[in-house]
Formats: sequence, C-alpha cells, structure tokens
Amino acid sequence: MTLSLNCKDAGDPVCTHTMYGENEEELLQNAKKHGIEVHGYTEETWNDEIAKNKDHFRKLIKTT
Ligand SMILES: [Zn+2]
Repeated sequence: MTLSLNCKDAGDPVCTHTMYGENEEELLQNAKKHGIEVHGYTEETWNDEIAKNKDHFRKLIKTT
C-alpha cells in the first residue's frame, strides 16, 4: 500500500509534485522535505502548518 499526496491538491497553485510514503509518517516526512526544499518552509513553520492543518492534509492523502 502506498500513500500519496499531491502538492496542488494541498493548495499550491503551481506545484504538481506528488509525495509518496509507505505510511502516513513517511509521507509526512517526505512532504516536509519537499516543503522545506521547494516551498521555503523551515522546520518550525512546517511544524506549525501541519499542526494547524493536519486534518486537512489527511483528507487529501490517496491510497493506492
Ligand atoms: Zn510542492
């Protein structure tokens, strides 16, 4: 089972990068890495974002 989350679905207007993970924890780790590398988040602002929007992100995760 692979979980995936698309950046555009998560609300980014231009980025169509898809993140994958074997489980939610791994997916969120990959999303964090992408958020920091590509979207200018820092460890701290990312954690804030996740804390505020975790339910929102969860709903966007697709299972394949
Ligand atoms: Zn992105």
